[in-house]
Amino acid sequence: MTENKRYIEFPIEKLIKPQQDDREYKLITLENELDVLLINDKDTDIASASLSVNVGYLNDPEDLPGLAHFCEHLLFMGTEKYPKENEYSEYLSSHGGGSNAYTSAELTNYYFYVDSNHLEGALDRFSQFFISPLFDDSCTERELNAINSENDKNLQVDEWRQEQLKKLLYREGHPIKKFGTGNLETLKTIPESKGINTREELLKFYNKYYSSNIMKLVVYGKEPLDILCEMAVRMFYNVKNIHAVPTKFPPDTILREGLNKVLFYKPVKDMRNIDLLFPFKDDVEHYLTKPGHYLSHLIGHESEGSIFYHLKEKGWAQALYAGSMRECRGIAFFSITIELTEQGYEHYKDVITVIFQYFEMLKQQGSQKWIFDECKTLDDISFQFKEKSKPVRTANVLSKDMLLYPKEHIIAGPSLYFEYKKELIEEFTNNLNADNFVLIVSSKNGNEDIKFDELEWKKERYYGSDYSIRDIDNEFLKKLKNIELNPDLHLPTVNPFVPKDFSVEKILKEDPYPKLITDNSNLRIWFKRDDTFFVPKLNVFFEIRSPIAKCSPLNYMYTAMYLQLVKEALNKESYYAEIADTKFNIKVSNEGNININVQGYSDVIGNLLSIITNYLLDFKFKTEEFDNVKDKFIRTLKNFSMENPYKQALHYAHYISSESIFSVDEKLEALKQLTYENLKSFIPLLLNQIYIEGLIHGNCNKETAEKLGNIFIEKIKPLPYPESLIKSSLRSLYLKKGFHGIYKTKALNPNNVNSSIQYSLQIGDIDDQDLRVKSYIVRQLMNEPCFDKLRTKEQLGYIVFSGLFTRPRIIELYIIVQSEYGPDYLEYKVEEFLNEFKETIKTIDDEEFRKNKESVITKLLEKPKNLASQTATFLKGVEAKNYDFDRDKRDSEYVKKITKKEIIEFYEKYVDVKSPERKKLSIHISSKGKDNDLVKEKQNEINSILNNNIIIEDVYSFRRNQNFGPSPVSYKPIDEYKY
Ligand SMILES: [Zn+2]
Repeated sequence: MTENKRYIEFPIEKLIKPQQDDREYKLITLENELDVLLINDKDTDIASASLSVNVGYLNDPEDLPGLAHFCEHLLFMGTEKYPKENEYSEYLSSHGGGSNAYTSAELTNYYFYVDSNHLEGALDRFSQFFISPLFDDSCTERELNAINSENDKNLQVDEWRQEQLKKLLYREGHPIKKFGTGNLETLKTIPESKGINTREELLKFYNKYYSSNIMKLVVYGKEPLDILCEMAVRMFYNVKNIHAVPTKFPPDTILREGLNKVLFYKPVKDMRNIDLLFPFKDDVEHYLTKPGHYLSHLIGHESEGSIFYHLKEKGWAQALYAGSMRECRGIAFFSITIELTEQGYEHYKDVITVIFQYFEMLKQQGSQKWIFDECKTLDDISFQFKEKSKPVRTANVLSKDMLLYPKEHIIAGPSLYFEYKKELIEEFTNNLNADNFVLIVSSKNGNEDIKFDELEWKKERYYGSDYSIRDIDNEFLKKLKNIELNPDLHLPTVNPFVPKDFSVEKILKEDPYPKLITDNSNLRIWFKRDDTFFVPKLNVFFEIRSPIAKCSPLNYMYTAMYLQLVKEALNKESYYAEIADTKFNIKVSNEGNININVQGYSDVIGNLLSIITNYLLDFKFKTEEFDNVKDKFIRTLKNFSMENPYKQALHYAHYISSESIFSVDEKLEALKQLTYENLKSFIPLLLNQIYIEGLIHGNCNKETAEKLGNIFIEKIKPLPYPESLIKSSLRSLYLKKGFHGIYKTKALNPNNVNSSIQYSLQIGDIDDQDLRVKSYIVRQLMNEPCFDKLRTKEQLGYIVFSGLFTRPRIIELYIIVQSEYGPDYLEYKVEEFLNEFKETIKTIDDEEFRKNKESVITKLLEKPKNLASQTATFLKGVEAKNYDFDRDKRDSEYVKKITKKEIIEFYEKYVDVKSPERKKLSIHISSKGKDNDLVKEKQNEINSILNNNIIIEDVYSFRRNQNFGPSPVSYKPIDEYKY
């Protein structure tokens, strides 16, 4: 270490990075042992930083579950240098940025992103959290509440409940049994009763673990490396090094006597899943070989010969997921989850038998070098052509991976296979045996074998989940231990979708937006050859319109069923493409169109598209397959009622506002009437007369694009589409001036403690640039204060956000809150905020206003970071049918002209509570609610607001009696888009 440099530099040529990656890296270790990765991306418009600390909730003291998480929350509340509590978030917000953090088992991660011109200011504020946080006592109470409502929102979510239930199977006293989120009881009530001061414990915790030697920092910016380096050294050399030692947790998560147990769980949603968990070694410790990856590749395979294919043929499974799940350093589980059909649930033991038969086949065949090599080839390809992701994602992932991998492999470690080790893979395979697993069965009801009323049910402590644990029966275990081979199970074949041609022609910059290469009575194809990213990839999107798909909920559901059956039938072939990074999706859109989307390597996409076409035109399905898909659809739609209330609010708002969609209830009703015979006669009609609009973007020339674009029409040979229907009709609700309405309904899950409100203001036609741009500015100005008031100060609940909905020809400003308080009170609080905010806008100074406008411009001009996100921006114009591809660019110019006075006028007309012109619709989803003094005190004010509103009870008749606005129009005459 040289005196003047104050850091040691890692020889950067050793750092393995993708060939596609043009960024520069520098990796240094400061005097305080803090490792810092600096990334220079000279063209980036967004900068970012992320810091990971090697401490997580496994380090929580036994009597304070959630302390690490609480520390993560309170850390942000001001520092000695910047004492103002929301200084950091305000700074980021006014410079096009944002931030977040999370606490996991063994690490806590903090990150932000910001306009790349303002990295220095943001980084300085960020660094202070690790040097002199105030942990302001005045925020303690409030942040405890914030954690409590964060936990509340998880209470009725099966994934969270199952995570905690698994811990019941681990041995007493093992840290991974801990409850990481925390709540008021664990962080306040219980500690208080024991005389423990949570904040003091928090300070002890911080001082014990927040040490520079177990932190990893990533800084991502456009500045040259030496400038980034100077900033990082200057701002972080002061982070204290107390030489903390990362905790090593013992690997014995389940003792012998704890294995071979089965846990039954009654889920919130209607599901029938089994989970097999095998205590496993940590794949990361063996990342050079990745035996866990190798096994999940085979066990999770879906082609002929695989577990899933076999179970599907039997009519037993709807989905299978397999992989090694890492809890923390040295501790992992190999987990297999199967979504069962009704029949499959009755045969759950046969399903498990098939899994063990497959293990037996793997063991007898031994580990296969050719499979390892194929995985290695595929991962090499995807690594070499890996494109940039958003800077914040890059920073965040790398700061975590810096804790896990040696320096040269920080980037490549998680992705690449390095060396084949036969014995190691076989050792891992042998861990998959009948002596080494536990089983979780999640279902609302029992079956022939599992009699629910004979089980002894208990309630899990933190989530209140109903569960029961017993031994797996001996007979069955004996059978699994003496398993015989099943002739239907075998290894996959050589993957036909491994791309071989990676050539990319580096063409000069062309016209920046898609052009029309085909436009006739059945087909309109947009095409843009990539002239920016130069990767051997291609993205293809088709929207197929058939008039009969959208004319009734019944036809809509027939279409959805048909597409799902096609997708499942295709799977045995398309799965090979999927693991080779060429993915497709096929589904019915909300509006009743058939959307087909293929993304991947240009070399193999044509092949996959023709397979899809063949299946779409000619495939046979069995009655059981029909029954299973129908059952799956019914459960999915019913499960909607168990979603968090704010999602219900979003659904109703979307339904009321869009003319051409059906509600969940309408779909569910229709679904019950579907029959196998009728579906068979429906299919030929569906594709009889269609219109296809497509977008092809990436590595291909016009001739190839024309061929790909034609692929469906050529085979389907539909009748010409009626000209009157070609212009798509997408219409949105247009409220009358002065309309104030509330749709009130109950939360569908009676156990949810939360209510919710979606408060929306219709501004006007989105094609009106003036209204549009002013809405952008108001959203920008409002975002941070709204969060600060409704969440931080009022503590209404964890879910608080505001923003804009852009529907066809309408723009809407919204605020969403999910809370234990009832929606009437939330309506009152939202309007109180809108009143206060009116004053805020008036007093905002010119400098602040200018910064916020700049923030809007930054967001409008943010460049797509990879081919897929570029495709997504083009697709927005195609799907919205305005083909206005350079709208954001024009808008960014227009922002500059808008004055503060104009924004005040805009606000007073469209947003202000007292405006006679504004148009408001809110959705209230109410649950049990919290009826405390706060609400009673304000009852008069609340009532006067309610009296000003029309209360909507029947959403169907309300919708029928409203006006819907105009349909989208093309920004330029369509002929002007011709190639
Ligand atoms: Zn949190």
